[in-house]
Amino acid sequence: MIALASARLLETVATLEGGTSSVAACLNVLICAGFAIAAHWDFVRSERSVAPTGAAETGSPLAPYTPYAGLVLSGLALLALHFGRIGEPGGLLAWVVTLSAALLFARQWLANGEMAANGANLAKRAAEARFSALIKNSVDVITIVGADGTLGYLTPSAERIFGKPADSLVGRTIADLVATEDRARLREFITRDLAQPGASATFEARIPRGADKHRLIEIHGTNLELEPTVGGRVLNLRDTTDRKGLEEQLRRLAFHDPLTLLANRALFRDRVEHALAVSKRGGSGVAVLFIDLDNFKKINDSLGHGQGDRVLRTSAQRLSKSTRNGDTVARLGGDEFAVLLENLVGQEAVVEVASRIVLALQEPFAFLGSDLRVAASVGVAFATPNDGVEELMRNADVAMYSAKMQGKARYVIFRPEMQHAAHKRLEVEAELSRALTENQFRIHYQPIVELHSGYLLGVEALVRWQHPQRGLVAPAEFIGVAEDSGQLIALGRWVLRQACREVRAWQHKLPEGRQVRVAVNASVGQLEQSDLVADVSHALQESGLDPGCLVIEITESVLMQNTEETLARLTRLKKLGVRLAIDDFGTGYSSLSYLHRFPIDILKIDRSFIERLGSVEDGAALARAIIMLGDTLGLEVVAEGIELEHQQRKLIELGCVAGQGYYYSRPALLHELEYSVHMQRRRTMADTLPQGTRFTATGRFMAGDLRMPDPEPAATGTFGLELNLKRT
Ligand code: C2E
Ligand code: MG
Ligand code: MG
Repeated sequence: MIALASARLLETVATLEGGTSSVAACLNVLICAGFAIAAHWDFVRSERSVAPTGAAETGSPLAPYTPYAGLVLSGLALLALHFGRIGEPGGLLAWVVTLSAALLFARQWLANGEMAANGANLAKRAAEARFSALIKNSVDVITIVGADGTLGYLTPSAERIFGKPADSLVGRTIADLVATEDRARLREFITRDLAQPGASATFEARIPRGADKHRLIEIHGTNLELEPTVGGRVLNLRDTTDRKGLEEQLRRLAFHDPLTLLANRALFRDRVEHALAVSKRGGSGVAVLFIDLDNFKKINDSLGHGQGDRVLRTSAQRLSKSTRNGDTVARLGGDEFAVLLENLVGQEAVVEVASRIVLALQEPFAFLGSDLRVAASVGVAFATPNDGVEELMRNADVAMYSAKMQGKARYVIFRPEMQHAAHKRLEVEAELSRALTENQFRIHYQPIVELHSGYLLGVEALVRWQHPQRGLVAPAEFIGVAEDSGQLIALGRWVLRQACREVRAWQHKLPEGRQVRVAVNASVGQLEQSDLVADVSHALQESGLDPGCLVIEITESVLMQNTEETLARLTRLKKLGVRLAIDDFGTGYSSLSYLHRFPIDILKIDRSFIERLGSVEDGAALARAIIMLGDTLGLEVVAEGIELEHQQRKLIELGCVAGQGYYYSRPALLHELEYSVHMQRRRTMADTLPQGTRFTATGRFMAGDLRMPDPEPAATGTFGLELNLKRT
């Protein structure tokens, strides 16, 4: 265009001067050549892009040649001018140039139209190619089937699902490719669910792969029979095997306990809910069992979490073995398990399962060694028509707690009154800590007497709770709760210090109180979780009580657990000079083999044996056996709970020398005991005793010191008779 403008300028100047410009002529030739090159290049380019798409059909066939016609015309005009055949070059040139420009514009206009048409065509083709590539390479399989399910088209990806090339499947019925069990349903899906044009639905089928394996396929179908380019039912197939597997895994994680692989609390609740709904419709029974391992904390603490986990896994296996296949066994958390029993006709089957579980968990765990035992407390609750999940599970929990309270390693069936007890327990637990800080506890002392002569040997310190509203509360109502909530350690420590102080002051006050014994109960927790040795030593120092006057009462179960450690603790305790008694003897695990290993001084025969004296045939046999055992092992025996005269008589007959019970006195405050008959007896005795008289563990005067050299403590009975003291 610049060259064209320059040529025009030169020509105009030359014309005004009445001549011609050869430079302008040359420029015109160059301009024409430039136009020719540009037109040719444009022509070639458009040919190239249009040819394969068939765009040429859409434009005019003359369009590409129009620029050439203009150029030819210009060239001819210039040549004619050059050879002087044209008289008036200005006018002719103006015509030629105008015509060339018009032709050029026409060409451009036609070319633009063609390009627009080509562009639309190109975009359409590109989109087609893109979709075709996407479909061919899609992971999903797209098929078009006829109304009877015959495969008309499949994307190449079909090979991944069916294991055969897509082309080889065309013509076959899709139902023949899925698992036999799914065929009828798939046929129905295609013929019925996708019957209407535009209808769409989803279906799941399995496709066999290898012997026992199959792939899971999700089929989404749409009826596109009215779509002219499709004309069939489109089935979109997706392999969901991996996704389903993952979903299943996640579901397992969400509903199962990873350690034991049992159901977790969420799944258990769900199953109970379902079972209750079914039972309401069908009338069959449902029961829930709550199981709590009895010794688990100790195992975890002493052997570490690895062994703890092993115990849990083994317990889970034993639970599963103790139940039927369809029963749900769950781990609710920690050492708590639960079992759901459904379709029950009576209660017998449940009781059977419960006792099987108790037995199974009592079996030794080989990897724990012989010292540590696990057991389980089982609470059983039967669903009543009004019970929801919450009530049923709570009832089983309450019954389980009751099993613990009744001595563990047993099952207990829920009774409604237990619920009230559970409420009360919660209340007590909340009030206990305040009671301790507000000094609401008192100690009552029950005399322990020499059976022959009835003189007071000592007292047992028994705690009471002076409740601001409920008055004096007996230990049975709070000792268990305090033990479970860990508060019994602090309470026991308080009783120990207080009893030592009070009895020491009493001994001082009364001349005959010299060497009166005080027995203090120590709980399992005190012995195992706190430093009882330090507490006792501190209480003795603080009070100034002679260690020989303090008797620590422990229960049999203490000796059975963790024996080496217990032995070491009791030995240290003994070294302080205190006496050790086994309380409620005969009610625990009763393995007599351990008795001689421990530094025990006194056996206290449980009240239940005393009750049987005289009432049941041969009821004395057990008491006799214990008394003989004490004799053999050189231990003094104290009978608990003597209520009747004949019991006392029988005990003396059997050779028992000491006892306590309502027959002599109920527990009372120390000052109330000062003028009791037993204290008076002691006073009388003490007056006759020489200085330096020695005492046995229970506080009996040693007979040899008085009259005859007899080191046998049991002989003191004779001494009592010799003094000719009458019993009340
Ligand atoms: P325990 O150590 O065997 O105490 C004897 C229990 O029998 C006392 O009950 C006593 O009052 C009761 N008793 C005595 N003679 C008779 C009788 O002739 N007939 C009947 N039916 N009962 C009699 P208590 O005071 O209610 O104490 C119950 C249990 O509570 C105690 O049994 C002991 O195991 C526990 N306990 C009491 N005080 C403490 C304490 O300070 N620490 C701990 N760890 N436990 C305590
Ligand atoms: Mg006791
Ligand atoms: Mg007792």
